Amino acid sequence: MELTEKQKNCKYCHPGSELEGIYRNSPWDDNELNLEELDNGVVSTGRDTWGDISFNPVNKTLTSVGSGVDPLIVSVNYCPMCGRPLNEEEE
Ligand SMILES: [Zn+2]
Repeated sequence: MELTEKQKNCKYCHPGSELEGIYRNSPWDDNELNLEELDNGVVSTGRDTWGDISFNPVNKTLTSVGSGVDPLIVSVNYCPMCGRPLNEEEE
């Protein structure tokens, strides 16, 4: 499948991209994107609860960790932001 320019340049599924986090440091932790550290209007955070959600485009997982609950790990085949298939190597 041909990738669109948007998918090729998507900052959310390319580890190490220049996304800015709320602490002005990279929200990437190796290949893991800590979505709760983003401060760009794409991710909203509930103020009355806490929880973390991270996206790992290499392992193809979305992981949710919250207070008092077991971690929830969801396998994904596509980037949730741009729809790029994660199981295909980029040219
Ligand atoms: Zn993407």
